[in-house]
Amino acid sequence: MLDRQRYARLGLETVLDKVLAGERLSLSDGEALFACPDPLAVGDLAHLVRTRMHGDAAYYVVNRHINYTNVCVNGCTFCAYQRENDEQTGAFRLSREDVLDKLERAPSEPREIHMVGGCHPTLPLSFFEQTLAELRGRYPQAVLKCFTAVEIAHFAALEGISTLETLRRLQAAGLNMLPGGGAEIFAPEIREQVCPRKSDAEEWLRIHEEAHGLGLKTNCTMLFGHIETSAHRLDHLDRLRRLQDRANGFVCFIPLPFLTENSKLKIERPLTGLDELKTIAISRLMLDNVPHIKAYWVMLTVKQAQAALLWGADDFDGTVVEEKIGHEAGATSQQGLTRSELDEMIRGCGFRPVERDSYFNPIETRRG
Ligand code: SF4
Repeated sequence: MLDRQRYARLGLETVLDKVLAGERLSLSDGEALFACPDPLAVGDLAHLVRTRMHGDAAYYVVNRHINYTNVCVNGCTFCAYQRENDEQTGAFRLSREDVLDKLERAPSEPREIHMVGGCHPTLPLSFFEQTLAELRGRYPQAVLKCFTAVEIAHFAALEGISTLETLRRLQAAGLNMLPGGGAEIFAPEIREQVCPRKSDAEEWLRIHEEAHGLGLKTNCTMLFGHIETSAHRLDHLDRLRRLQDRANGFVCFIPLPFLTENSKLKIERPLTGLDELKTIAISRLMLDNVPHIKAYWVMLTVKQAQAALLWGADDFDGTVVEEKIGHEAGATSQQGLTRSELDEMIRGCGFRPVERDSYFNPIETRRG
């Protein structure tokens, strides 16, 4: 039971009433939450909502991440992963055989294949179509969750076709779902500084809406804790919420803390752990129409992801196996987790682990 007097003292009585009644929060409610000096009070509200939606369940998926290249024409200032095509050290591009080989060597057969990469200057759409077709044939039970909206825009531009046609062709080859990357912060004044060459907000949102129209579910993200303000975060959440009202195609929102290591983007005040948790909680409260909030352990660390389950998140992501993007930026987490480790970590903070597919349908939990 939440203490009304506590919320009245914090000027959050209206927010409390709306949360208890299941009503939508306004942007000014969001501002009041960001301004609240008692982060635990914000976390308690998010936990109430998360528990109402998902009870004591905390989800994870047996997945395999594949990063097919770090060569990228965009050169976002925050990105520690990107390399130039002619750079001798550190640039890589996987062949189709390399991708298949990595999957062959995965410790468990994946339920989800999450494949993303840089915007390579010459890789043609046919490469991705053939790779998807091969994966579809070899892993019929896996959801192919591949290519951010930014990559889709890049493939379309290289091919000289529309993004809708690009999505149709990839879907015909086996694509099931888009991951949520590339959203960063939608406000143009921030994009100009952190990712000036990347798709703008309108293009990112349009591509997701096109995918939803084709029956492809997608995820969505927000990269926070760099040069944006709380108003920018709320604007970002509001744009996602409005698209979800129209298209209802987002499955999960992933709040991604900015990791500073190896980044050209220098910031004055790095995020604290409480900043991260409060933003995750406010995301849960604002995104009333997005079913799931992910505590992405790779970027948060496992310990912070456990805490995030008590601050509004309901998903722990998955086994991952190998991850390059967050680790280039200084992620200190391990490369992968087993089912048993995920079970243990979720149980360790009082939740019931539920193995899921990419759409959050529960599947039989096995040990491994
Ligand atoms: S964030 Fe993505 S689009 Fe930007 S430089 Fe890095 S790989 Fe390229």
